[in-house]
Amino acid sequence: MQDVRGLHHVTAIAGPAQENLDFYAGILGMRLVKKSVNQDDPGTYHLFYADAEGHPGTDLTFFPWAQMAPSRRGYGLSSEVSLTVPPGSLVFWASRLQRYGATIGTPEERFGQHALPITDPHGLSVALVESNDSLATAEPVQGEGGLGRTFTPWEESPVPVEHQIRGLESARMVERDLVVTSSFLTKAMGFAHLGTENGWHRYGVGGGKSGSYVDLREEPTMSRGAWGTGSIHHLAWRVDDEAHQLEMRKRVAENGSRPTLVIDRFWFKSVYFPEPGGVLFELATEGPGFAVDEDRAHLGESLVLPPWLEADRATIEGVLPKLAPPRY
Ligand code: ZN
Repeated sequence: MQDVRGLHHVTAIAGPAQENLDFYAGILGMRLVKKSVNQDDPGTYHLFYADAEGHPGTDLTFFPWAQMAPSRRGYGLSSEVSLTVPPGSLVFWASRLQRYGATIGTPEERFGQHALPITDPHGLSVALVESNDSLATAEPVQGEGGLGRTFTPWEESPVPVEHQIRGLESARMVERDLVVTSSFLTKAMGFAHLGTENGWHRYGVGGGKSGSYVDLREEPTMSRGAWGTGSIHHLAWRVDDEAHQLEMRKRVAENGSRPTLVIDRFWFKSVYFPEPGGVLFELATEGPGFAVDEDRAHLGESLVLPPWLEADRATIEGVLPKLAPPRY
């Protein structure tokens, strides 16, 4: 029986697109690997930040819905995304974030790892987490148990290669009922309980290395959270290919969720479903990847539309705010 491989990407809701670009490409130094539109709302950008090649597992994406109200914290939402940084690099990061006036929290120890919580300009909770796994850059192994995450440094980043963000570390989820979600994670998706600390329950796949675990917290008295600027929209999990995706889709349905049909997102194929606690999940294939429609050297430089939206390019470009290179 196959399980999901770890995080593929995390998608969040931002405020104005330029401020989002300034923070993630400018201050955090991630590469904007794709500048596209929300395929269900083409008047809104979909911005993808990742390593130099946009490898699965390194990708944080945003819908900048500037007119949306701020999110409401509560259960049924993923409340924080964490990003992997190399061991010993948090000193560099704290100083860099301070220099540019970013909102930083108090450094924490989480399950033996150093973490620096920060808040992005639109209220999203992000944590930078030091991980030894970040040093692994081996090609991912396909098939059962394959969990590697490839990282290619971005030579043009304002952040030196030795400190660059290596990829997605994990995400936090707030639940009204821990058991319904934890049993779904274990039965439908292959997670195992890895430990509990300070009210956070860690679940991981394949041993729970960097990029392949989530932390759950039970909050029975909170009200339901709501999407808005500064919230995470969904967590996408890696599947090898379409066969693996269909197998996982079947398991998800057998365990009581209602997955969508396979949707072609052009750079990968997607299936969406809510976990029983309400957090929106996606199963996303490894390929074909972001270089399918752009030269690797010029990823993210021009607006890329899926073929079915090309006819509306002029209208779409007229509606989208113009983006300047990152300012910070
Ligand atoms: Zn997605």
